[in-house]
Amino acid sequence: MRQIIHLDLDAFFASVETLLNPELRGKPLIVAMGNPQGRGVVSTASYEARRFGVHSAMPLRAAARLCPQAIIVPPRHRVYSEYSQRVMNVLHEYSPLVGQVSIDEAYVEIPAEQDAARIAREIQQRIKTEIELDCTLAVASNKLVAKIACNAVKPRGFVVVPPGAEAQFLAPLPIEELPGAGKVTRAKLARWNVKTIGDLARVSAEELRTEFGKWGSYLHEGALGRDDSPVVTESKPKSVSQENTFERDTRDVAQVEKLLAEMSAGVARDLKREGYAARTIVLKLRYGDFTTLTRQTTLRVPTDDGDEMRACALQLLRQHWSPRRALRLIGVGAHNLSEASSARQLEFRM
Ligand SMILES: [Mg+2]
Repeated sequence: MRQIIHLDLDAFFASVETLLNPELRGKPLIVAMGNPQGRGVVSTASYEARRFGVHSAMPLRAAARLCPQAIIVPPRHRVYSEYSQRVMNVLHEYSPLVGQVSIDEAYVEIPAEQDAARIAREIQQRIKTEIELDCTLAVASNKLVAKIACNAVKPRGFVVVPPGAEAQFLAPLPIEELPGAGKVTRAKLARWNVKTIGDLARVSAEELRTEFGKWGSYLHEGALGRDDSPVVTESKPKSVSQENTFERDTRDVAQVEKLLAEMSAGVARDLKREGYAARTIVLKLRYGDFTTLTRQTTLRVPTDDGDEMRACALQLLRQHWSPRRALRLIGVGAHNLSEASSARQLEFRM
């Protein structure tokens, strides 16, 4: 029997901001780029702001309407990464099998002979006392059930789903709680009047396969709380990128080039910190009418150099953007990554 802990930090970005500025404590706080008149999107809201209906990925404009008294602060990703790393370091003390799935979420697999529930309690307490952050933890026999259970008891939650009780635990939860049961899937499931995960568990595997194909098998297994996916420890990024939406669509060459240069430097910094070099530089342009295009350059030798990355990005921009078309968004990405040390060896050989 496997033992999986799922950890999710509560309102992570907002909690870090509050930690660094105690004046924000107890107040509705929104972490977002831009201002309420602009096009920003909420990246995290404190639980005080969530009470007004504010949630992640909501346009900032709408959030500010729901909660006009909210304090809005811009995200500081570098600071959040440091806190995230400290949390991951704690997890690594308990098991080498730590799979980080996002900046504030991870799975930890605990060997069968150890008491996973006790370890999970200890992790939660240590993160509170040593890092001063709240988190929610769930222990279950697989990743899927641990993840759903964790969401079900947030924030500052703790839950153990005993082996054998997976389906029973999931049954009363709304079908939205099953990862992957998006709008389209749910619309199709309405035919069987599926409202809860338990309702889905009662639909036969065969019927689900007829309707959804392979996906039907996942739905059936998932509804019964079965999942054998491994904890993936490899966390090598596939790419590093940044993008920004202009407050107003722009044709201003100087403004666009300046932002692109800053973003290129930022991407190079992130790459360096992670120890990677990139062979492919990608430019993304989105016009006022939402048409989006990406163009890329592949280098002979991978780079993590900010100047080189900026030069590539600017060259792509000059080749592919006509200022007659106003830009809504611009992005720059580094793909085709390799370890910087091996990249340097390659350079040395050439
Ligand atoms: Mg979280």
